[in-house]
Amino acid sequence: MSICLNEKMVALGTQRSVIRELFEYGKQKAAEIGAENVFDFSIGNPSVPSPASVNETAAKILHEMDPVLLHGYTSAQGDAGVRAMLADCVNRRFHTSYSADQFYMTAGAAAALCCCFHGLCNAGDKVIIFAPYFPEYTVFAKGAGAIPVIIPADTEAFQIDFTALEQALTPDVKAVVVNSPNNPSGVVYSQDTVKKLAEILEAKSVEYHHPIYLISDEPYREIVFSDTDVPFLPHYYNNTLVCYSWSKSLSLPGERMGYVLVPTDVQSHELVYAAIAGAGRSLGYVNAPSLFQRVCAACADETSDLTVYEKNKDILLTGLRSLGYSVVEPGGTFYMFPRSLEADDTAFAERAKAHNLLLVPGCGFGCPGHVRISYCVPTKRIEAAMPAFEALAKEYGHS
Ligand code: PLP
Repeated sequence: MSICLNEKMVALGTQRSVIRELFEYGKQKAAEIGAENVFDFSIGNPSVPSPASVNETAAKILHEMDPVLLHGYTSAQGDAGVRAMLADCVNRRFHTSYSADQFYMTAGAAAALCCCFHGLCNAGDKVIIFAPYFPEYTVFAKGAGAIPVIIPADTEAFQIDFTALEQALTPDVKAVVVNSPNNPSGVVYSQDTVKKLAEILEAKSVEYHHPIYLISDEPYREIVFSDTDVPFLPHYYNNTLVCYSWSKSLSLPGERMGYVLVPTDVQSHELVYAAIAGAGRSLGYVNAPSLFQRVCAACADETSDLTVYEKNKDILLTGLRSLGYSVVEPGGTFYMFPRSLEADDTAFAERAKAHNLLLVPGCGFGCPGHVRISYCVPTKRIEAAMPAFEALAKEYGHS
């Protein structure tokens, strides 16, 4: 009997991402030579626990709330009380006046992005993505029938190559995705970058007589170093949709919680919100997890203790630069994206492996010639890894 399946889905389900591949390799290697001898910088799983209030709130809700209500379906867009609490929280922080009806609760930023792509795009619409980018963007966009258009990276500063952007902004572009603080570079877009981006999108929307949506993917909004300011994009560009997540800020990636915010400034915001909700419905998301909607709303003003990420960044950045690596300083996240010491980043990552250093080749992020280091690991692992980075640099003639 012959089986005819959706080949694209079979491929997605069979091929592991480069990151997952390396992560699995790391686990296998750790079993062979001991976890302390493998410097696994492959994956972006938070290394610090959630604040105590997360478990306390979850326990309190489990004990005190009517279980039928708690474990039942919530409204498709999320519990109304939860969304009102989030609106208050966002309004306090960003001096906005959003209401509960502008928040659509999702299973993390991944589902938020999928709802945006499916809700906004018709087959063949283009979605602009800036390299280096989170690799799943292309999977999500294509899944919605859209065509991802990659803007090559500005490798000097990891801001935006505006000349390339203007060339790519053709009438069939429906949306532009930004991710700042960025995975994998860690860079935060400056206010100048954001203003210029907004100006260009505004002008092109007028020229083409239709809105070009800006989708701001913000799972790392809270992981920001020193005085770095992360501009709140709806203040700069009206047609902005915000995709937020608690995966990293509250160290809850397994609980799957996030939202899409559709501000009232978005043209025909009620229709756009309906399209997002329709997308969630057609994708079978039903509603975001009930318990953690309530937990995240109650803990929305808090974060895990994120200080270790800045400490790790400082040690790595100073150490790597002193060894001759070229690295753009991250303003946030727990990633950095140094240049590989040879043009072929995959070959470089293979040579790093020989030192038990697991670095993800930049080509997977649309930016060859670099590698991603996920430094969401205990600080002592960073310190222990420095001799391996040094030995690797020496192979390339750096002393
Ligand atoms: N966007 C970016 C840039 C990410 O790095 C990730 C996860 O690593 C996601 C979205 C998905 O996050 P979530 O766990 O909230 O779905």
